[in-house]
Amino acid sequence: MSESENAAPKLDFIRTIIATDVADGKNDSRVVTRFPPEPNGYLHIGHAKSICLNFGVASEYEQGVCHLRFDDTNPAKEETEYADAIMKDVQWLGFDWGKNLFYASDYFDQLYDYAVQLIKREKAYVCSLNAEDVRTYRGTLTEPGKDSPYRNRTVEENLQLFAAMKNGEFEDGSHVLRAKIDMGSANMNMRDPAIYRIKKVAHHRTGDTWCIYPMYDFTHCLSDAIERITHSLCTLEFADHRPLYDWVLDTLGTRDHPQQIEFARLNLTYTVMSKRKLMQLVHENMVEGWDDPRMLTVSGLRRRGYTPASIRDFCKTIGLARRESRIDMGVLEHSIRNDLNGIAPRRMAVLNPLKIVITNYPEDREDEIICKNHPKDESMGTRNVTFGREIWVDRDDFMEDPPKKFFRLGPGREVRLRFAYLVTCNEIIKNAAGEVVELRCTYDPESRGGSAPDGRKVKGTIQWVSVQHGCDCEVRLYDRLFNTENPEQDRDINFKENINPDSLQILSGCKIEPALADTIVTDRVQFERVGFFCVDSKISTPDHLVFNRTVTLRDNWAKISQKNQA
Ligand code: ATP
Ligand code: MG
Repeated sequence: MSESENAAPKLDFIRTIIATDVADGKNDSRVVTRFPPEPNGYLHIGHAKSICLNFGVASEYEQGVCHLRFDDTNPAKEETEYADAIMKDVQWLGFDWGKNLFYASDYFDQLYDYAVQLIKREKAYVCSLNAEDVRTYRGTLTEPGKDSPYRNRTVEENLQLFAAMKNGEFEDGSHVLRAKIDMGSANMNMRDPAIYRIKKVAHHRTGDTWCIYPMYDFTHCLSDAIERITHSLCTLEFADHRPLYDWVLDTLGTRDHPQQIEFARLNLTYTVMSKRKLMQLVHENMVEGWDDPRMLTVSGLRRRGYTPASIRDFCKTIGLARRESRIDMGVLEHSIRNDLNGIAPRRMAVLNPLKIVITNYPEDREDEIICKNHPKDESMGTRNVTFGREIWVDRDDFMEDPPKKFFRLGPGREVRLRFAYLVTCNEIIKNAAGEVVELRCTYDPESRGGSAPDGRKVKGTIQWVSVQHGCDCEVRLYDRLFNTENPEQDRDINFKENINPDSLQILSGCKIEPALADTIVTDRVQFERVGFFCVDSKISTPDHLVFNRTVTLRDNWAKISQKNQA
């Protein structure tokens, strides 16, 4: 990570709390945070916000540490594939947990002992209501719950039943271990929440050792305490769980009592964020996979061509708040555009080719044109591109009947070929169907480099690719995956109905300058006048190059949505 990125972080409300704690000597002035993903899916841009916060805060203190902890307590949904992908994504984002890699499943023995302690303190009991009765007994937001008929089992009976649960003597769902708190609490989470359930499912790390698994609310606070986390940063939906977090630690009298602090989760326009929904898109083949470049997953963004720095910059830009909001997708795009603008070399590509024959250019001649790799950064140097009698230009840069302000090609119009020559269109060749298939032009031999010898003004400049030397490729243009700002807003409409049917456009037979044929996966390029691109890491081969458009050059979308609103 660069120096400037680490310099003077803005003091948001969480950083203010931590700075105060450190100054006050709380927790011996230690700062230990954690990022606690559940390995049941791939990370998304919302997780990136949490990663940047947890790892970022820790890195701002000399003694600061951030743990990566897999919250792997639900064996039915978790897989090693996900855990591996999560580690790869965190590292790619530029963060390092060092030796602090943990798994909640490593604490299963300790957690079991803690549960036994709760039973012994008469603070937990085995409840044998079926799921439906548990629900009825629980009450509602407006009505208090009722005590379970099993609430007053003796300590001995509870210990024996809990051990039997552990030993596999009961079926799934026949008993649960519940904390004994308060069925009349206004906070539903405090109405004797389940803390252990029977689940005869093998775990991806502990195998068949366990058939009972601890619930999130019991596991999370204790894992934090075991690891001596100082500040447990989580999203707002856990605010109502905080009393339970504190109750468990207070009741067990753990040595450490980490402080849970909540912040608003990231929501973005034109996308959905929850793993459950992303998983549906994947499983129902509405996208090509978790790493589909239209997905706002870390792996999707990586494949799309986003840089880790741009994602960190985005997370810094949006900051931290205590209230939920929806960030405009344009903010994310601004971060990547900004980054790539500085680092991506310029190249020429023609996505929708139209042939030009320069009739006064000798057939046996070629020119080496010197092209700048970056308009401002001289250190990026130049390259030679071979020019010849036949070149490709983009169809959109020609109009048969152009309006006055169209400064590109049209009958009799003159235009500048980037870094090369001025050409004038003299003749249009059409096929039998009346489609324009070729333009006949003449060039001004005195205009090498692009300026007219007599100083006449030529406004338009277009990119070009040599017919003789250019290469073919496929180009994939991506648009928003959903066509409404909040695809989940209308509860009567399944979010999948808001999928944008035009979110992927595949163009084949695109023409690129020869230098682009050597592009590798980690390269970032700007196709002049078109956008920023990268080679697709999954399907591109040297024989069949595939480029992904990372982002357009300008925020066209802002204009379109303004127009739609008007
Ligand atoms: P999802 O709701 O997308 O399924 P999750 O909360 O179930 O996500 P976890 O693996 O449990 O996913 O999340 C790990 C951490 O990432 C948690 O601390 C969670 O608060 C945080 N997190 C998840 N989604 C977001 C988000 N949109 N913005 C910020 N932080 C998030
Ligand atoms: Mg979760």
